[in-house]
Amino acid sequence: MKAVDFITQIRNGDIDVVEHTRKVIEQIKKINKEYHYFNAVSEKEALEQAEKVAKNPSGKLAGLPVSFKDAICVKGVETTAGSRILKGYRPTFDATVVERVKKEGGIVIGKTSQDEFGFGAFSVNMGIGYEKPLNPFDKERACGGSSGGSGGISQKADFPHISLGESTGGSIVNPASFCGVFGLCPTYGRVSRYGLLDYSNSLDKIGPMAKYADDIALMMEVIAGFDENESTCADKPVDDYTKQIDIDISGMKIGVIKEAFNGADAGVEKAVRGKIAELEGLGAEYEEISLPTAIKFGIPTYYLISTSEASTNLAKYCGMRYGKHEKLEEGFNEYFTKVRSMHLGQEAKRRIILGTFARMAGYRDAYYMKAMAVRTKIIQEYKKAFKEFDALVCPTVSMLPPKFTDIDKLSVLDHYNIDNLTVGPNLAGLPHMNVPVGFEGKLPVGMMLIANHFDENSLIRIGSDLVK
Ligand code: GLN
Repeated sequence: MKAVDFITQIRNGDIDVVEHTRKVIEQIKKINKEYHYFNAVSEKEALEQAEKVAKNPSGKLAGLPVSFKDAICVKGVETTAGSRILKGYRPTFDATVVERVKKEGGIVIGKTSQDEFGFGAFSVNMGIGYEKPLNPFDKERACGGSSGGSGGISQKADFPHISLGESTGGSIVNPASFCGVFGLCPTYGRVSRYGLLDYSNSLDKIGPMAKYADDIALMMEVIAGFDENESTCADKPVDDYTKQIDIDISGMKIGVIKEAFNGADAGVEKAVRGKIAELEGLGAEYEEISLPTAIKFGIPTYYLISTSEASTNLAKYCGMRYGKHEKLEEGFNEYFTKVRSMHLGQEAKRRIILGTFARMAGYRDAYYMKAMAVRTKIIQEYKKAFKEFDALVCPTVSMLPPKFTDIDKLSVLDHYNIDNLTVGPNLAGLPHMNVPVGFEGKLPVGMMLIANHFDENSLIRIGSDLVK
């Protein structure tokens, strides 16, 4: 059932919200034992909120179970971004997106599993002590990442549900693709990041993941919009995203990104091209377009900028004010090294080292500053494309969800290259969405739509027309 239909039933009193919430909690605990989609289940808070909603079911999300990636702060509920260094941290406040969801009667059911601090594309770079989420279609395969738990539960839940994920370089659309659901990463600044544990401030975005485009639109209306607590949040009116569902796409012009099919799995290419061919029947036009800079230089640009920002963001987890503490012995340098060595996972350490190197005196101009210049070029390339097209399209990820045994064989660079199609729109701050377009065998395939800044409307319009 779509969230929108469920909420109508709650409002009409056809469903007992407290009883429903109780059942949902039991169900996710059961799913979690097998699939590891949650780092924390917020049973007590969920039931308290359900009692409140029962008395006043007027909110836009009345009674709807909502989960949040673990990097998003929920008051009183353990929030770790999947890292042991934050084990035991219970925020004293709600992130703005959480506050808005609660205000509209949404019920926070838990915190979803992820790569530590968002560092990964498969949800296998787990913090010490955390279990990998398993793909809902095949437990030997990955959910994608880094919002893997959000992708998994969005598919596996047989109750109406929306999850909020976070993307720095593809972490909403990638797991949405591997788990066969919609996932929308909004324009940078469209949704407040207040209360998100930062990975890379100039790239991080929060956005919804769900089975239906209608539910994505509904959640966007709740979470988008100005927030005085967040200086990069845009002060721009929020569109009526749900209205887009009923508008057809006739007359729209869509650019098919040529280079994006190089090296794509044959099954992925077939499903995506098949869906693109349907555009004409729906009244839209499409044409090939080349984006050489974004596809060729996206990966080095993204990894230099994101690790540089991550290395400064993670500096605060040093065993003094934030995160785990240990016994203070020797000098501060030895102490910081001890705490970080003990409690951060391998990939987090690698990113700190890479990012610190890229920003160091003597290397800054050659790496970090150069990456910033290429980022500008990438933005210009997209901006030019949007003079001609309403949206761009390509596969979301070049591969089908891989087996864990195959992921083990990949090099670090192979891991980074998985993001080759998703880093472009993230670097440019452009809204993009995964549309589940079908299956190759039993595995889902995702197609990515990219639109101009603040044009989430086009994504919802096209996505909902293509997949009813
Ligand atoms: N896979 C990318 C990375 O490891 C993207 C992660 C993200 O968007 N949080 O950085």
